[in-house]
Amino acid sequence: MNDMRIESDHFMAGERKAGVGNATLQLYSPATGEAIAAAPIGTPDEVAAAVTDAEDGLRAWSAFSAEEKERVLFAMATAIDAHGERLAEMESLNTGKSMGIAREEIAGAASVIRFYAGYPTKHHGAQIPTSDPGTLCYTIREPIGVVGAITPWNYPLVIAAGKVAGALAAGCSVVVKPAPETPLTTIELAAIGVDAGLPPGALNVVVGDGSTGAALSSDPRVGKLTFTGSTATGRKVLLAAAANGRPAIMELGGKSPNIVFADVDLPAAIDKIVMGAFANGGQECCAGARVLVEGSAFEEFVELARERIGSLRCGATDDDEIGPLITERHLERVSGFVERALTDGAIVAGRGEIPEKGFFYPPTMLTNVTEEMEICRSEIFGPVLTVDRFEDEDDAIRMGNDTQYGLAAGIWTSSIGRSIRLARELDAGLVWVNSYLAGEAAAPFGGNKASGFGRELGLEGPEEFSQTKVVYVTAPPGS
Ligand code: NAD
Repeated sequence: MNDMRIESDHFMAGERKAGVGNATLQLYSPATGEAIAAAPIGTPDEVAAAVTDAEDGLRAWSAFSAEEKERVLFAMATAIDAHGERLAEMESLNTGKSMGIAREEIAGAASVIRFYAGYPTKHHGAQIPTSDPGTLCYTIREPIGVVGAITPWNYPLVIAAGKVAGALAAGCSVVVKPAPETPLTTIELAAIGVDAGLPPGALNVVVGDGSTGAALSSDPRVGKLTFTGSTATGRKVLLAAAANGRPAIMELGGKSPNIVFADVDLPAAIDKIVMGAFANGGQECCAGARVLVEGSAFEEFVELARERIGSLRCGATDDDEIGPLITERHLERVSGFVERALTDGAIVAGRGEIPEKGFFYPPTMLTNVTEEMEICRSEIFGPVLTVDRFEDEDDAIRMGNDTQYGLAAGIWTSSIGRSIRLARELDAGLVWVNSYLAGEAAAPFGGNKASGFGRELGLEGPEEFSQTKVVYVTAPPGS
C-alpha cells in the first residue's frame, strides 16, 4: 500500500477534476482509524456540469454500434481484472475488508460488467401483428437517458459496477454519486472505463455527501435515478424524483429472517447461518440477522452458534472473517442498539473477540428477544444477530413476514415441500434455501415493501434503464 496514489477527485467528461468547493470529506481506514485521504464535496454546480457532460456522453455512446458497445464493456471487465490487486488494496484500505474478501468483490465487479457486455447485441424490440396488412408495427428499445446513480459504502465497487454496467448496456450515460466514506474505487471505475473506450461523459463520478446526492436527485435532466442506501434516504430521493416526474429504482434496507427448522443438520449448517448474519461485519443489506429457530432445536442452535461466534477471526488481515464497521459514528450507532436491547431484556448469548485498534464491534448473539423489540424490527447493519423461536410452519411464515422490510429470507430444512411452500409465502425479493448470500450477476436483485422496488442485475437490470417506442409504418397513400 505504501506506494499507492490515492486519487479522490471527481471524474467528469473523461478526466479527473479537482473539486471547486471549500468543504472536503476526510477518508479513513476503518481497520486502524487513521486518516488516508481527503475528497471533495461536489457542489450543485459541479453536479449540474456532470449532468451536462453526461448528456454529451449519451449522444456519443448512442453513436456506438451494439457490437462496439460490447467491445468496450468487455475491455472494461478485462481491465478491472488486470487492475484487480490495486483495486482490492484500495477497497480494503477504504472499507477495512480483508484483502481476501476485497479480491472476491473486485472479481465480482468485473463479472457483472462482463455479464452485461454481451447484452447490447441481444437487446431489441419486437414486431407487432397489425389489423391492416399494409402497416408494419414494431417497437424500439431506447435508453431512458442520463442515469443518476447514488451508492452506499458497504460494497462500493460491486454496487457501482452493477448500476453502471446495466445502464451502459441499455445505452444510457451515467453520473454516479458514491458514498462519502468510500469514493475511491468508483473513481477508478470511471478512469478504467475511459481507457477501455467509453466516450467522454458516458460515465461521470461526482464525489460528495448527502447535499451532492440531493443535487443529483433533483436535476430534471436525469432520466432515471437508481439509489442504494437506507430506506429513510431513499424516500428523500424518491420525493425529488417525483417532483421532476421521473422514475427511480430503490434498493433499500432490510431485516431479513433466517428460518431454521429442526430437521436440518445443524452442525453442518451452523457456519453458513452465522456468516449469513455477520458477513461484511453485518453491513449487508440482506444480512440474515433475525434468526428464527424451531422450538425443539433452539437450545442446540444457540450452543452451536455460541461456539462458532467465539471462534470468528475479527480483523483486517488476509484471512480474517469479520472486518470493522465503516466509521466511528456507525460503531456508536450499533453499540447503542445493543445497549437498548439489553435494557429491554435481551441477553448476550454469544460474543466474539475483536482487535484493540479500529472501528470493530464484537460479533454478538442476543436471545430472550421478542419480535416487538427495537433490535428485532430495526436494521442494525452491524455484527448483531437475534435468535427467537417459532412453533410450526405457519408461525415461521407469520414471524418471517412480520417486518416492514422485504429484501431477503433464508430457509433451512431437509423438506423440499416445506422449502417450496415457504419460498412462496415469504414476502421478500429473494429467498435462499439451505444457503445464505449466494449471488449471481445473472439473477435479478431487489426488495419488496420498505426494502424498495425495481430490480438490478440479471436481464431485468438494463430493462429498467430503457423504454419502448412504438413505430407504425404504412405504405405512402396511393402506392
Ligand atoms: P445512506 O442512505 O446513508 O446513504 C446512501 C447514499 O445516499 C450515500 O451516497 C449518501 O451520501 C446519499 N445521500 C444521503 N442523503 C441524501 C439525500 N438527501 N439525497 C440524495 N442522496 C443522499 O446509506 P448508507 O449508510 O451509505 O448505507 C447503508 C444502507 O444501505 C443500509 O440501510 C443498507 O440496507 C442499504 N443497502 C441496501 C442495499 C440493497 O441493495 N437493498 C445494498 C446495500 C446497502
